[in-house]
Amino acid sequence: MATKSGFIAIIGKPNVGKSTLINALIGKKIAITSPKVQTTRFRITGILNEGDNQFVFIDTPGMHKPYHGLGKSMDKSASDALMDADVILWVVDQTFRRTDQVILERVKQSQLPVILVINKIDTLENKSEIDKVIISFLKLHEFSEIIPISAMEQTHLIQLKNALSNHLVLGPHYYPDDYVTDQTDESRMSEIIRERILFYTEQEIPHSVAVMLESLKYNEAQKTMDIDALIIVERDSQKGILIGKKGEKLKRIGSEARKEINHIFDLKVHLTLWVKVKKDWRNDPTTVSRYGYGK
Ligand code: GDP
Ligand code: MG
Repeated sequence: MATKSGFIAIIGKPNVGKSTLINALIGKKIAITSPKVQTTRFRITGILNEGDNQFVFIDTPGMHKPYHGLGKSMDKSASDALMDADVILWVVDQTFRRTDQVILERVKQSQLPVILVINKIDTLENKSEIDKVIISFLKLHEFSEIIPISAMEQTHLIQLKNALSNHLVLGPHYYPDDYVTDQTDESRMSEIIRERILFYTEQEIPHSVAVMLESLKYNEAQKTMDIDALIIVERDSQKGILIGKKGEKLKRIGSEARKEINHIFDLKVHLTLWVKVKKDWRNDPTTVSRYGYGK
């Protein structure tokens, strides 16, 4: 029996449908808590086991944000994830924007094979528009494949899996075949909140922020969950920026994070965000480990 597996770095700007695609490919919400695996090389978003094939989808933090929001460490973890990947899966909608330009440069640097997925083709009124979109992307890079899909309507996913399987490598599977993710629900939820914060803030805030879930109450019958999350920053000024004028920024972060949590976990969540200033928390080992950012 010839088992194959491979690491697939999934990249693309926010809202192109990466989460929807992963859930569609794996066939369930990546909400199941699994025992931790040993590797901490990068963040694993989802694992798809199909026959002899194991597809390990890895997230590339930092690749999704505009360049000015990138810090050195995020930069590094993004390039590390690319370095360890066997193939890049780049998800775009039908437009090419500034964020895509940043991604394109990284993709070229990596010298890895790239499968370009043009998502949301269900939104095109005339299917012949797909050709125009494909041609516009063809000019940018020598992609190993370009596949138009609809993650939402699950069209052309088999073609995509076939294309990905060409890049899997012969050998034993990296993870047990019943694993779908290596993250706990709690860590995934706080990461979603942190991701929204990173998206809406610039400069020093991304590196000065930590998110932890304070309480999590699940109502089995109603399938609702009350979540209180604590956001820690280092300075009063950062707290101000994060909260924004009349609390607008924090409200937006909370509302988008809530929607994404609902979407991913198939829940109805009431999310309350609290912001607390803790001076220099990053240099305090006790705090760092308490907030889950230790080793
Ligand atoms: P991400 O930020 O890249 O992970 O994007 P999401 O998976 O959260 O999707 C962003 C939005 O696009 C959501 O409202 C999805 O329902 C929607 N979406 C994702 N895939 C498709 C698709 O194939 N067609 C349409 N029409 N909408 C989609
Ligand atoms: Mg997402």
